Amino acid sequence: MIKLEKCPHCGSDVILCKLNGITYVAYEFSIVCPGCGLETKISVNPNANCCFDMGKAVDEIVEKWNRRESTHEHDAGRSD
Ligand SMILES: [Zn+2]
Repeated sequence: MIKLEKCPHCGSDVILCKLNGITYVAYEFSIVCPGCGLETKISVNPNANCCFDMGKAVDEIVEKWNRRESTHEHDAGRSD
């Protein structure tokens, strides 16, 4: 199912929050690291799409977060 990568900065487990927008105009999803405050956010507008799928919005932010983490690669344990 949903797999959230750990924080690329400090390695903490991160939290996915859903914030209800004003009068359902938009939802905001936020992935926050409690360790260092790193945050990724998206806003979605359920009214813009009659087939609005909450699961898709969650997928989108998780993917965004995970992609950010993948830019932070380092070879650990490489010895020569
Ligand atoms: Zn962090």
